[in-house]
Amino acid sequence: MSNITETAVEKFLEHTDSEAASFFEACVKCGQCAEACHFHLATGDPRQTPIYKLRPMERAYKRDKAPFSSLKKMLGLAPKPVTEAELKEWEELVYDSCNMCGRCTLACPMGIDIAGTIRKMREGYSAAGLVPEGLQRSAEFVKKTSSPMGVTIKALKAQIAHQEKATGIKIEVDKKGADYMCTFSSMEIMGYPEVLGAYAKLFKRAGLSWTISSVAYEATNVGVQIGSAPMAKEILERVVDAAEALNVKYVISPECGHAYGAIRWAGPNLMGRQFKFEVVHIIEVIDKLRREGRIPAGKKDDRRMTLHDPCQIIRRGGLLKEPRKLLNESCSDFVEMKYAGLSNFCCGGGGGVSANPRADELKTKAFSLKAEQLNGVEGLEAVVVPCGNCRAVFEDGFDEYELDFEVLGLSELVAGTLAGDDQKQG
Ligand code: SF4
Ligand code: SF4
Repeated sequence: MSNITETAVEKFLEHTDSEAASFFEACVKCGQCAEACHFHLATGDPRQTPIYKLRPMERAYKRDKAPFSSLKKMLGLAPKPVTEAELKEWEELVYDSCNMCGRCTLACPMGIDIAGTIRKMREGYSAAGLVPEGLQRSAEFVKKTSSPMGVTIKALKAQIAHQEKATGIKIEVDKKGADYMCTFSSMEIMGYPEVLGAYAKLFKRAGLSWTISSVAYEATNVGVQIGSAPMAKEILERVVDAAEALNVKYVISPECGHAYGAIRWAGPNLMGRQFKFEVVHIIEVIDKLRREGRIPAGKKDDRRMTLHDPCQIIRRGGLLKEPRKLLNESCSDFVEMKYAGLSNFCCGGGGGVSANPRADELKTKAFSLKAEQLNGVEGLEAVVVPCGNCRAVFEDGFDEYELDFEVLGLSELVAGTLAGDDQKQG
């Protein structure tokens, strides 16, 4: 067995805890998960069947850890060892072909969490150094700048200055004792900086005390995507240390899917302790401020709009009703897409896929299902996409499938339809 294989298999076994073992034991090979996965549906390739993507880890478990595996080995009844060639062959299935979206789990009669197990499998790949180049590059940028796209504090401050000018509202950086510390994805900072202006307008109206940290403005966590717990912890530590140094009560996770799961669900486990602050998603904050009457809704946007449900915020994050309530309050013609809500299709770029250029062709194929969903809404004019990463995937997909709808974030929509916004601005 080569070093690479040994390291990967060792990690597979280490991460085959009782939960993963019960999944491997429970699978009845019914194939129902195949009909749920957008990669399988878009390509028709049987290798894209969700449970198939876990094969090397399942084989390592059945050979070395399952009940009676030693006896089976002695009798020559155990599965063959995983080879380096197989590991390399599966690398694309593990990193390019899974957004860790969790749609297959909804279809699985045994409730097998393929997404969570892929995450564990990536730990083995990462330990063995089998990580796609694009994700490795993102990790290098993070080391230098804390951002996977290399966005520096200088670049962020320039975007802040533009938004201050556009809104006439001061945006505080490193304000000690603020109640809320906001984080953003690099994609938002560089691609959709108007989100900074939207926060400024909403929070000013609500009278919220908030700030941005100059050392921990990035919310995304490439360590979680790659499958490296030590890297994920290091990235998270920056945010936790900054929030605790600023003595804030809350850290706001932005309109970004995986960033929310990384800090809110995986965060305390990665750090091995509870935080001294609470993590809240921006949608929860806006919803709360609206319920408290601090950001009243004004004239509604009358365009026909729909909502894309980012998997990690809605299906895996539980924020199903709040964005719909806010949309109905902000738009007079909100229409749901087919498969909306918990069974929505991923945009194809989640789970680190959009940071991996090798996966571009497959990602674009998977977007054909999103294009079908959007085209299924008659007279559609705009789509609200509350995730910066999904927004960028939508824009690429729109070029490919010749779609012409406006894409906007939820914070911008709510900020743009505040009551009396025209008098209050500035
Ligand atoms: S988690 Fe999503 S992308 Fe991954 S196999 Fe399941 S349905 Fe496919
Ligand atoms: S749907 Fe569940 S039980 Fe059926 S093959 Fe897929 S993972 Fe196995």
